[in-house]
Amino acid sequence: MHCPFCSAIDTKVIDSRLVAEGDQVRRRRECFDCKERFTTYEIAELVMPRIVKQNGVREPFDEEKLRAGFQRALEKRPVAVEAVEAVIQRIKHALRATGEREVGSRVLGELVMSELRTLDEVAYVRFASVYRSFQDISEFKDAIDTLRHSTDSD
Ligand SMILES: [Zn+2]
Repeated sequence: MHCPFCSAIDTKVIDSRLVAEGDQVRRRRECFDCKERFTTYEIAELVMPRIVKQNGVREPFDEEKLRAGFQRALEKRPVAVEAVEAVIQRIKHALRATGEREVGSRVLGELVMSELRTLDEVAYVRFASVYRSFQDISEFKDAIDTLRHSTDSD
């Protein structure tokens, strides 16, 4: 890469090491021309795409909201916390793997549905019955809340 001091085209790497528990590569470079030294860091780009809601509003992916939604749908169901965490990681991986900067909330909703289907049939039906009418993952938590309250008062 170019030297940030003199803009010379050629610089050489004089040291390279893993940092941040192996998640980053730190390189010391030296300019062939001016002999200045500088440091670069290399990290994998793992940016979560933003979620585009049905009404066009963009919002950051909210892992806590997703987790809360799963917890509501799985309330009183025999599903281990570890299983839910694994599902959340799989969904995050799938979203990143799209390589898109923005993903429709419907895509996220369908991911949640397919995971719930294998995780717990009752939770799947709970979620699906609500989600199908909203088609928006961001309303998932509120809707499940409502569903639970109406069930409680029966
Ligand atoms: Zn230079």
